Amino acid sequence: DYQSLAVKGVQALSPYQPGKPISELARQLGLDPAAIIKLASNENPLGPSKMAIAAAETALTELCLYPDGNGFELKQKLSQRFGVGADQITLGNGSNDVLEVIARCFADASSEVVFSQYAFAVYPIVTQAIGATAVTVPAKDWGHDLDAMAAAVTERTRLVFVANPNNPTGTVHDSGAIEAFLDKIPQNVLVVLDEAYCEYMTGEKDPDGVALLSRFPNLIVCRTFSKAWGLAALRVGYSISSPTIADILNRVRQPFNVNSLALAAATAVLDDEDYLQRSREANTAGLKQLQKAFDEMGLRYIPSSGNFVAVEVGPHAMGVYQALLAQGVIVRPVAGYGMPNHLRVSIGLPAENEQFIDALAKALVAAG
Ligand code: PMP
Repeated sequence: DYQSLAVKGVQALSPYQPGKPISELARQLGLDPAAIIKLASNENPLGPSKMAIAAAETALTELCLYPDGNGFELKQKLSQRFGVGADQITLGNGSNDVLEVIARCFADASSEVVFSQYAFAVYPIVTQAIGATAVTVPAKDWGHDLDAMAAAVTERTRLVFVANPNNPTGTVHDSGAIEAFLDKIPQNVLVVLDEAYCEYMTGEKDPDGVALLSRFPNLIVCRTFSKAWGLAALRVGYSISSPTIADILNRVRQPFNVNSLALAAATAVLDDEDYLQRSREANTAGLKQLQKAFDEMGLRYIPSSGNFVAVEVGPHAMGVYQALLAQGVIVRPVAGYGMPNHLRVSIGLPAENEQFIDALAKALVAAG
């Protein structure tokens, strides 16, 4: 029985459930893939930045070479952008990779790792894969209960994961709340502030983990090029931390974990402020469009600060999901997160949002 041979924490895991691919649904329904819309993986609906595409194309001529294992140029660019040293940056194959490296560097089978109920699905995976104990703290109003999370820290706690904004709930804490939380965490416990969606936020009180790094040496801020920067396929994320922590992460990181196309495109997209601005504007408008429609339909939703929104469709959520699929609309069930009455829908272009809303109205009737 090979199930019982897997390490205990892995036996207790379920695999990460990605959004259903468009090609698979198109085949199932016998439809042209162009007729399907996918609002299931919090992808950027604008398509990639032209500057990123051009840079990746140029990098194609070097496919036979290993990438720059230190990501020199990308780190330089990030270091200028954030006013931090290049030696504070750790690059990853998506920020998921960085999250995993952090867990492997700082926790082991004797450790506890704290995160919130309804938090991002990768936290239990990277925790349990190394045999550490996951401590899941009950959420408050669907968001992280930061006081309860601080109170959950014991002498065995090595890491705390905070997703801000959180996926799949879209909940966020402002800078002041994060700072007050960090004040409560002992210096020998690392706090991973996962800001995958932070570029969508524009307000003054919005969280900015990078600004807190100088005060909190135990802080690691994680960010990604997958969302507002529109490069999910290439898999590039990074952390910013103290140089000491970055040095530790660098020992365990796979030598060539970010490929050349990804490095080239991410370096180039940082010069495309216009793309970032359009991502933000499209997201703000799309979020309004969906929330207005939910209001009109009498559906409750969790106010979101990300590029997605969790809408409450009731106990037949899986039926609603299936009825949406039958109409060529892919969204994300979140029952696996313990949210069986919600579906998570990513913000699309205006026409996609409209198609989703029309399909949702029909799906709600079909699912009873
Ligand atoms: N953190 C959060 C909160 C996320 O939602 C995601 C993407 N689903 C990630 C990290 C990882 O993104 P990536 O690996 O594409 O950088």
